[in-house]
Parts: sequence; structure tokens; C-alpha cells
Amino acid sequence: MDCIFCKIVKKEIPARIIFENDKYLAFLDITPNTIGHTLVIPKKHINNFVEQSSDEAAKHIKVVQQIAGQLQNILKADGFNVAINNGQAAGQIINHVHWHIIPRYNNDGLLHFAHSEEAKSKLDETLKKINGQIK
Ligand code: AMP
Ligand code: ZN
Repeated sequence: MDCIFCKIVKKEIPARIIFENDKYLAFLDITPNTIGHTLVIPKKHINNFVEQSSDEAAKHIKVVQQIAGQLQNILKADGFNVAINNGQAAGQIINHVHWHIIPRYNNDGLLHFAHSEEAKSKLDETLKKINGQIK
């Protein structure tokens, strides 16, 4: 398997690693949205968020939380976003699950997701479609 993040785990290609333990690795994103943009990955290859067991996902986000707060303090950021792009349609390019931690700075100009007028006009329809199916 030709996974770039597995290669980073195996130290076959370089990365700007900011945290590492036996199961997780965090490194600076090579095309950052803001100063300190970090990716947090499990060392074990898993394609995406839905393929993680709930136990793995819980452990993963715990590491993200631990790093994000410290990163904000160290970089004197004013906040941060955490995000996963799950699936190609959502912008997932690397198929090795990773949380983004994006430190935010007052007036950093980074755009948020745009609101959708279409989705707004379909709120009631959307609720009906989901219709209590989520367990
Ligand atoms: P995503 O679009 O959620 O799959 O995010 C993949 C991220 O990985 C992008 O933000 C890339 O900039 C980042 N990336 C790709 N290759 C590397 C690399 N070798 N080192 C650090 N970050 C990388
Ligand atoms: Zn991988």
C-alpha cells in the first residue's frame, strides 16, 4: 500500500513532528491554512473516520484534544477548529484517517463554510427525510 502518512510513521519521508507516542503521531500540515495547522493520525493505517472502531475514534479524539489546547497556548492562538474531511466529496485527499487542528487568530481571514440557501429552504424536508432513523 502506497500511503504517504504510513511513510511518515515509518520515517521514510520527513515530517515536522510535534508529538509522538506509541500509537499516535502529530505533524505540521505541509500546506497549512494557518500557523500551526496540525494533522493528528493513528500510526496504524485506517482509511477514514467511519472505519475506525468507536474505541479507536474516542482514543484518537482524546489525543487531538490534548494537543489542541497546548498548541493554542504555545502559539498564542485565539481559538482553533478541529475537523475531519471524510470521503472525497468532503475533500479527503489522503486515505489515512487524520484530524486537522487549525489554530485560529483574531481576524485571520480564514473563511468558514459558506451557508447554503438551498439547504436552508429544505430544512423541513431534510428533517422529514431523516425521520427518527438515527439510532
Ligand atoms: P485531507 O484533504 O483532509 O485529506 O488533508 C490532507 C492534508 O495532508 C492536506 O492538508 C495536505 O496539505 C496534507 N499533506 C499532504 N502531504 C503531506 C506531507 N507529506 N506532510 C504534511 N502534510 C501533508
Ligand atoms: Zn496509511
